[in-house]
Amino acid sequence: MSEAAALIDARLRGWGTVRVPIDAAQGEVLRQTVTAERDQPPFDRVTMDGIAIRHSGFAAGGRTFQVVGTQGAGSPPVPLQDERNCVAIMTGAALPSGADTVVPVERINREGQTASIAAGYVPAAGQFVHRRASDHPLGATLLSPGTLLGPPEMAVLTVGGSGFVAVARRPAIAVISTGDELVDVGAALGPAQIRSSNDRAIAAALANRGFLACDRLHLPDDPAVLERELRQLLAAQDVLILTGGVSMGEFDYVPRVLQDLGMELVFHKVLQRPGMPLWFGISPAGKPVFALPGNPVSSLVCLVRYVAPALTAALGATARPEPVVRLAQAVRFEPDLTYFLPVTLAYTPDGQCVASPKPTNTSGDFIALGGTDGFIELPRGTSDFAPGFTARFYAW
Ligand code: AMP
Ligand code: MG
Repeated sequence: MSEAAALIDARLRGWGTVRVPIDAAQGEVLRQTVTAERDQPPFDRVTMDGIAIRHSGFAAGGRTFQVVGTQGAGSPPVPLQDERNCVAIMTGAALPSGADTVVPVERINREGQTASIAAGYVPAAGQFVHRRASDHPLGATLLSPGTLLGPPEMAVLTVGGSGFVAVARRPAIAVISTGDELVDVGAALGPAQIRSSNDRAIAAALANRGFLACDRLHLPDDPAVLERELRQLLAAQDVLILTGGVSMGEFDYVPRVLQDLGMELVFHKVLQRPGMPLWFGISPAGKPVFALPGNPVSSLVCLVRYVAPALTAALGATARPEPVVRLAQAVRFEPDLTYFLPVTLAYTPDGQCVASPKPTNTSGDFIALGGTDGFIELPRGTSDFAPGFTARFYAW
């Protein structure tokens, strides 16, 4: 719910800024202004293969021009001194001085060193020239702090002129599974044991959002061991994400151990399903600690709904609203709780995004999440949601 999200946002402070080579900046959050190293375009750029002419020569009745040179992209401009002449020119070349118009090669008849404009074709003055500085002048702001550096921004960085860029430092995150029953994939299982799966789902959701410095660890249901290990992890890591052991069971030691470690409890329990026992606190050194319920659907929903957006916002990323989708069919949910419902998405021919519910068989049924796109948030206070109801969508 938004109240829990706001409580988390209010307490996360970010992890500073690092200067990285631009090749390491992809997917990161920009923390500086990037300005244009030169005018953009930096010269009058030819946008068609053809010939460069002075339009006044055409206006004076010229249709056949002497080719006085050939100029490709990157070669120095060949000056055009006489309006009866032209320069054979390629896309990306700098417009020759004395020329102002490009006639595309498809409109030219070339014979040796003469080029004639095709009968009936009338070039407009100035055509097929992308004028110097017509997009951005030197020094103009091209990218602002908070921008997520995706593919277009990687291209823009190159005309900032520096090989380095300041981006948000990513936190070192420990994802800690707690529970005596948990065994990693590949290791031998006792009859009452299960595979530890939460940590992999959580690490994957974090990686999807660029949080790659993520250690997966396992701790037993033993308060002494938990306290010892968590103390060390709190010293070494920036963020702790625990799963399991936060409910009311006799072996749910996590909240007590965290309290013993001097943690400030910000909240424990949210009126939601799944994920009611969610716990959030701040260590004495100011580090955020999230303790998520162990049930696999709950832990992943809480991670995606609360933890990941808060971490991204703490990097200084410009906020982007979650998409809103329409329910494909009626949903009934009676408890007075916010309901997170897994869905698959589809698009109607008229461009609406519709969500088909894929409810799980309890919050332990993580297998049912396979193939889903994410979940929608259905607010408290309503039990009947009609087809077409608009809900916020969270992608895994
Ligand atoms: P807990 O919150 O510790 O009571 O755990 C609730 C349920 O989630 C139990 O059935 C646990 O076995 C299961 N569970 C806890 N942690 C994990 C995990 N890392 N991977 C898969 N299932 C888990
Ligand atoms: Mg447990």
